[in-house]
Amino acid sequence: MKPLGPIPPGFEAIDGELAVGGRKASALVAEAGGTPLFVYSGELIRRRVAALRRAMPERLRIHYAVKANPYLSLLELMGELVDGFDIASGGELGFALAAGLPAGRISFAGPGKRDEELTRAILEGVTLNLESEAEARRALAIGEREGVTPRLAIRVNPDFELRGSGMKMGGGAKPFGIDAERVPALAREIVAAGAEWRGLHIFTGSQALDAAAIAETQSNVLDLAAELSRAIGHPLPHLNMGGGFGIPYFSGDRPVDIATVGAALAERFEALPDVLAGTEFAVELGRYLVGEAGVYLTRIVDRKVSHGTTYLITDGGLHHQLAASGNFGTVVRRNYPAAIASRFDAEPTEEANIVGCLCTPLDRLADQAMLPRADAGDLVAVFCAGAYGASASPAAFLGQGPAREILV
Ligand SMILES: *Cc1c(COP(=O)(O)O)cnc(C)c1O
Repeated sequence: MKPLGPIPPGFEAIDGELAVGGRKASALVAEAGGTPLFVYSGELIRRRVAALRRAMPERLRIHYAVKANPYLSLLELMGELVDGFDIASGGELGFALAAGLPAGRISFAGPGKRDEELTRAILEGVTLNLESEAEARRALAIGEREGVTPRLAIRVNPDFELRGSGMKMGGGAKPFGIDAERVPALAREIVAAGAEWRGLHIFTGSQALDAAAIAETQSNVLDLAAELSRAIGHPLPHLNMGGGFGIPYFSGDRPVDIATVGAALAERFEALPDVLAGTEFAVELGRYLVGEAGVYLTRIVDRKVSHGTTYLITDGGLHHQLAASGNFGTVVRRNYPAAIASRFDAEPTEEANIVGCLCTPLDRLADQAMLPRADAGDLVAVFCAGAYGASASPAAFLGQGPAREILV
């Protein structure tokens, strides 16, 4: 037997079935036209953002990292709830603008931005988080050619990283950002060239659950930003402090204690150095805002036993839920939270493996899980599916195609 991850709060049973936003899984599947289906709960996202705002200092702005989930209706909802958006490609810029998000509240990071992407972003008034000196010069040249003042910030590659982070994106040699010691010279060049100086972006990692580690990193980020802005010699209009707040995916994971993070940050905000006195601060969060609000529903097509092991074979799989299969940046595969959605309040009585329909042994949704007995026709729920699900999985693999998605 292997444990399943913790089912996020906010999901309930109605008539024995999993319900999202007061509606039963079977009804949601019928409304969407079938399985596999991602269901995102607007109510859970609203609650999450509200709780975060209560815990954080009022001065802190909350940005949404579009890469976590770019589903159009969800982006529209985020437009009502958060203060800004971080994108990482021209494609995401297109999604953000299609969702009606104001370009002035969007910043664009990511290595390898093409000239067409830079041009569109500059024309729209999006802030560019520059990833290299060469990119800065291309952006300045495009601004000049188009007769538009580019809004430019610098993404810093700091010398430290977020402890306990699932994915390291700062510290040492990196394709992301500009090494901290080279930032002041480039910032002065940008200001001298007449661009609008927007400040710094310091992202240090993802999926941290330890509040003390997050607070320590935020403190380091503030120190580095102060040191760099002194060296630059211009006030810092904006500081994107990164994010990294994780969610519990696996058995034993505990949610981030956001009260501790907020209290530590409030203390720092009360004693800011002069160079940061007028700075606008933001965190950029993806999975923390939307990850636990999503559930992936897939239907059991076949039940079979091989050498005494029971397999529940579904019509979904890693082509929609790569992360749950253990093939998206994990070393040791562990079970995401999962359940038999059509028997949500039934007692577990047997050990079974939930697998996808792809013809590869990688396609596993839950290994050796204790579950109520389920048969062909039953619905399986895989939780923590609101981030890095549909858009981060190889939907075209084996000719399967995309899952349905709805926001309720
Ligand atoms: C991926 C990414 C995020 C979002 O990460 P989460 O773990 O989903 O919060 C934020 N900022 C940058 C620069 C990223 O690359």
